[in-house]
Amino acid sequence: MTAKLPAPTYADVVAAAGRIDGHAHRTPSLTSRLLDDETGARFFFKCENFQRMGAFKFRGAFNALSCFDAAQRKAGVVAFSSGNHAQAIALSAQLLGMPATIVMPNDAPAIKVAATKGYGAEVVHYDRYTEDREAIGKRLAQERGLTLIPPYDHPHVIAGQGTAAMELIEQCGPLDALFVCLGGGGLLSGSALAARALAPDCKIFGVEPEAGNDGQRSFREGRIVHIDTPRTIADGAQTQHLGDYTFDIIRRDVDDIHTASDAELVEAMRFFAERMKMIVEPTGCLAFAAARRLAPQWAGKRIGVIVSGGNVDLKRFCELVG
Ligand SMILES: *Cc1c(COP(=O)(O)O)cnc(C)c1O
Repeated sequence: MTAKLPAPTYADVVAAAGRIDGHAHRTPSLTSRLLDDETGARFFFKCENFQRMGAFKFRGAFNALSCFDAAQRKAGVVAFSSGNHAQAIALSAQLLGMPATIVMPNDAPAIKVAATKGYGAEVVHYDRYTEDREAIGKRLAQERGLTLIPPYDHPHVIAGQGTAAMELIEQCGPLDALFVCLGGGGLLSGSALAARALAPDCKIFGVEPEAGNDGQRSFREGRIVHIDTPRTIADGAQTQHLGDYTFDIIRRDVDDIHTASDAELVEAMRFFAERMKMIVEPTGCLAFAAARRLAPQWAGKRIGVIVSGGNVDLKRFCELVG
């Protein structure tokens, strides 16, 4: 086992940006005049639904795998994920020429399972309501000598995810507020490292599903709160608790945690499809769903929103918005 890595800093986000340069897309930051007219605020959307494999997770995965030494590369990587982290690790491993084993729930969206296998990874299934994916991942790592890369609680993953907010601020200038989806907190903590350094006055907010507000409770109670797997359409944010690294950064650098209901997520999916002509998965709508509700407090201000991903079966998308 490797020693515990130090907590990531903004310098690690900058280093990650160098490693992913030329491999990850520099995704567009889009605006909507109609929305700005409606709300009186100015919205800037960082569109990670257009990232490689369809979500920001490619950033953290590629950064983490780029840090492997020769022996780690040869043996390969193992990851557990409800979907996007799996695809991100599988694609990154393929690009870097190493084997990947992915532990996925047996009810993971078909599109995500197929994509993971399509990138050449071996998929091992488990039951997300009765089995512990972390234990399965750790056992595989030990048995096969693989390096486990967790979906969020890892310094190289956090640093990689932070590059999305870094690019957004580079693209659109300083922000007054930044809204970020929250599952286990990799994206939020990385974003906070970038935003604190680049836009010191920017308020930073996490947004998680109403059905699973463990992050909000953890933030307010000052300890990591564990919950049962929440039932929500936001399948990328069905996490049961924050991580040690992510919680420390979130409690230090984040201003507050908000929630969004499934109904608000569906409204946001409709908004993105109708007004901005883009398909965003339910989890990818979390940040906007809360930002839209809170926009009256931000009249005349510049609000950054990270749209985290776009991987949703078309049939499922139609059922939800129909
Ligand atoms: C993983 C994921 C999230 C949550 O990210 P964390 O780093 O776990 O907080 C949000 N949106 C999408 C699309 C994701 O794939």
